This record gives sequence, C-alpha cells and structure tokens, in this order.
Amino acid sequence: MNSSIKKEYDAVIVGAGFSGLYQLYCLRNHLKLNCLVLEKGEGVGGTWYWNRYPGARCDTESHAYTYFFSDEIFKEWEWSERYPGHAEIRKYLNFVSEKFDLKKDISFKSEVIKTTYQENEKKWNIETSINKTISAKFLITAVGCISTANIPNIQGLNKFRGSYFHTGNWPKNDVNFNGKIVGQIGTGSTGIQAVPVIAESAKQLTVFQRTPNYSVPARNKPLTAEFKTYVKENYKKLRKTVRTTPNGHAFIISETLVHDVDEIERLKRYEKAWEKGGLQFRGTFKDIISNQDANKTASEFIKHKIRTIVKNKEYAKILTNFDHPYAGKRPPIDSNYFETYNRDNVHLVDIRSDPIKYIDEYGICTEKNYFNLDMIVFATGYDAMTGSLIKLNVTGENGLKLEDYWKEGPKTYLGIQIPGFPNMFTITGPGSPSVLTNMPTAIEQHVEWVTDCIKYMIDNNYETICTTNKKSDEWGKKVNEAANKTLLPTVKHSWYLGANIPGKPQVFMPYAGGLPVYKEICDKVKESNYKGFILS
Ligand code: NAP
Repeated sequence: MNSSIKKEYDAVIVGAGFSGLYQLYCLRNHLKLNCLVLEKGEGVGGTWYWNRYPGARCDTESHAYTYFFSDEIFKEWEWSERYPGHAEIRKYLNFVSEKFDLKKDISFKSEVIKTTYQENEKKWNIETSINKTISAKFLITAVGCISTANIPNIQGLNKFRGSYFHTGNWPKNDVNFNGKIVGQIGTGSTGIQAVPVIAESAKQLTVFQRTPNYSVPARNKPLTAEFKTYVKENYKKLRKTVRTTPNGHAFIISETLVHDVDEIERLKRYEKAWEKGGLQFRGTFKDIISNQDANKTASEFIKHKIRTIVKNKEYAKILTNFDHPYAGKRPPIDSNYFETYNRDNVHLVDIRSDPIKYIDEYGICTEKNYFNLDMIVFATGYDAMTGSLIKLNVTGENGLKLEDYWKEGPKTYLGIQIPGFPNMFTITGPGSPSVLTNMPTAIEQHVEWVTDCIKYMIDNNYETICTTNKKSDEWGKKVNEAANKTLLPTVKHSWYLGANIPGKPQVFMPYAGGLPVYKEICDKVKESNYKGFILS
C-alpha cells in the first residue's frame, strides 16, 4: 500500500503489534479518523514479528494473552497450547487484522527515521525509510517496550567467521544448528527458552552465563477441549480478572503472607505451585516480591529444585550462585531448562568468574579458556522501554530532542505523555505498568484512554494537548515510591533500571503500583477533563 500513502493524516501510529493494531481500530473505527500505521517489518506482530528464536513462546497463558475488547474475536479464536508460540501469536494478530480490515491502513517495510513537531502548524512531520514524509496531528508510538536489541560490544565480534544472531532479530528462515558447535550468551527469559531447543539439534552448546536466573517450569501443554470450552464460557469473568489483578494476568495473587503459615504448609504450597508451573508461582504468597525474608523462602525453594535437577555439581553451583532475590528481575519460566544441563552436549561457563575477553575468527576467548564455535546466539536483551522511543529521533517544541530531554532517565506523565512533545502519546511508555504486567491488558487500558482523550479534544475543539514538567516530576516521584515498596529496585543489574546498557541512566522505569491502581489514577485524570494536561 506504500504507493497510496497520503501526505497528511489525523493520526500516525508507529508499530503494528498488539498496541498499534488496537489503536488503529479505535481511532479509525470508533472516531472515524484518517490513520496510518508505519511498521518496519513486513507483517503484523510487533515484538513477535522479530522474535522467532528457537523456543520463542509467550510466558503469559494464552487465555490471558489476548485482546478482550471484542467478544467476537474472543469467541472465534482458539489457542492451541497453554502458552502461545511465536508463530501462533502472529497468526492471531493476522486474524485480528483481517477481521477488522486493518492492513489497508498499515504501511509495512516503513521504518520511522525522524519525527519533528512543527510548532506553527501544530503537526508532526514523520520521515520514513521509504522516502516519504507524512504529517499528522497526532503521533502515537506503539513501538513496544523490549524491541531494541542489544548486542554487547565485545571486542573482535566483527572478525568472527561463523554466523551470529540476536534472538530479537531472528531470521525468518529456520536457523539450522544440526552438527554445529554453538555458543549462547545470555540466560534471561529468552536465553532460558532457547537453550533446551538449541541443545536438541546442536552438536555442542556452550552457555555463557553472567547472572543465574530463578526459573520455574512452564508446564506447557496442548489445551483440552474442556479447557477451551471453559475459556469461552467464562470470557467475561476472565476479562474482569485480568483487569482487576495487579499484574493483568488471569491468576489471583494469594492474600496469605509467607509467615502466616508454618514451614510444612509453606513448602506444600510452593510444591503445588511448582507442579502447576507458570508465572503464577510468584503469587503463591502476597509478600514474595515485597519482603526480603518472605522472598528468601521462595528463592531457597527454587535453589533446592535446581540442585536436585542438575546432576553436575559444578554447574548446579553456577546456576544457583544468586545475588538477587527471586522475581527481583523479570522471572522466567521454562521447559526443561535445568534438565538440559544434564545432556552430554551442553556445557556451562560462568563468565563472572571467567569473563569473556574477546571474540576472534573461530570463537570466544575468556580469561581462562578458549571455545571454538560455529555459531553464536546473543540472548543479551534489549535497550528496554526507552530505546525504541529514542530511535524514532523525536524533536518536540523549541527544538527539544527526546534523547536530550531523557538524558537523566525517562520523564513522562503517567507514561502516556512527555512534556514538550504535544499530541504525542506513548502506549505503554516508561512510567506506566507495562512490562510488570500482562502486556495486552496494559495495552488495552492505554489505547482506550488515548482514544477517549482524542475524542474529548475533538468534541471540545481542542487542537493540542501537552503535559508539564511539574506533572512529570510529580509522577516520577510516584513511580519511585511504588517501586520502593517492592524488592525490584534492590537489583542493581536489572533492565527495569536500564542497568544492562552501558551508559544508560539508571532510573526505575515501569510503574509498580499495579494495573488497577494505575487505571484508577488515569480514570480520575480523564474524569477531571484531563487535569495535569494543557489543552489549547
Ligand atoms: P534479559 O532479561 O535482559 O537477559 C539478557 C541476558 O544476557 C542476561 O542473562 C544478561 O546477563 C546477559 N547479558 C547481557 N549483556 C551481556 C554481556 N555484555 N555479557 C554477558 N552477558 C550479557 O533479556 P531477555 O532474556 O531477552 O528478556 C528481556 C525481557 O523480554 C524479559 O525480561 C521479558 O520481559 C521479555 N521476554 C518475554 C518472553 C515471553 O513472554 N515469552 C520471552 C522472552 C523475553 P545479566 O543478567 O548479568 O545482565
């Protein structure tokens, strides 16, 4: 559709993942605005367009990782497994796009390279990789929180003669590991999913671990006909649950505190949660994520499980050498991750005690060893939450560059708007619950708020909306207060703080107060006719 792109739109939306698609639907179908979605990929999917690495699967259960805004979609679509795989999520988003005829307003292979606010015209100029400059009254970023891949700057990588990949930019054609000697750097949620699958076909797999990770079994399985019926019959109940639980998932966090029960009962509950599997393990007790002593009981339980599973004592020691509390970093779930270290073709290197020195033509050299490799997999994470926004090269009022404005960390009001950047809305931006929740739930709340806000502007003949530095400072304090009620900011090397990217300012970015509290705050702002924003 590139040839039919117009010069001017009411709204340009950047990104065709869960958020961009729903935002297009709301603005075009409800408000009848003239909209265009600009998407770098060749298809819909957002993060799932790029994440095709072995084992890539969502950690949220499929009956919650879904849109809830449309009864029709919910009734017609059927997930096949407890956790949806990457290909099935793309299939789902294609189904939604076709259902609402969304693709006709999406320009694929169109990367946004520059966006500039034109103060006189009160419009955004958006420059794209397809040599088109488009102008729009509203600019809505739907770029995802974990979309800008981070390949660490390791000396000599450019000399490597084998092939290397980042999991977040995985080739569309299957990568064949058969008979290959593979090295994988990174053991976050992604790395933990990739290891067992790569190990099945590679001749040898060496995992380079910097920080161990507490992982709980996912216990993925095909969904039974009975469960599928349950989901359809309980659609409204599920919708209510995801919208009223702090993390937007379809499970309820226990009200019981760790020390409300004795040790026997505590272990019984952990055991039951371990057997059930999934992210809900962290909801076994209410205070696991807020109280250090309570957290220790969960951490110790998982450590014990790892030591029981992993037969090689040296590997078990490396895999349990934690210096952070369970769920202090985003907790992964897995399918046979720890079991994979019992395979003869899998090796583990602790790069804390034996750091990587350089990469050369043939492999990775650590301080104490050398590893010949045919392939390197970088499961090394993202410049999260801010990276993809800064990459849009945004200039707001008075020539203010977003990159400069955020030099000391992101400043937003509600994670939705940035002072000095009128009529620009950031779906699941920094300062909103986003990555601490089930993303589609957070996305629906944001998209609906933005749609209502734009409708209010149209109905009341307002041309621009912008927030103030005062409001973003106040909100920044609230984000910190909410984080400080949890153990999350105590983990100094977490991507929630930006600590994984050298030179990135370290500020706790997501709002940790929970979705219902956050929604209430946003709703009050809306009911007050957007107090905290300047409408003109
Ligand atoms: P990540 O959590 O940031 O993990 C990156 C891994 O690479 C860590 O083990 C990190 O070690 C390591 N690493 C980074 N730089 C390194 C360096 N210079 N040298 C050695 N090791 C290095 O990234 P991710 O696993 O891609 O996950 C990011 C987020 O995406 C997750 O937290 C989750 O929110 C989301 N995600 C979701 C799903 C899902 O739902 N299915 C799946 C995957 C990811 P350190 O810990 O020491 O920094």
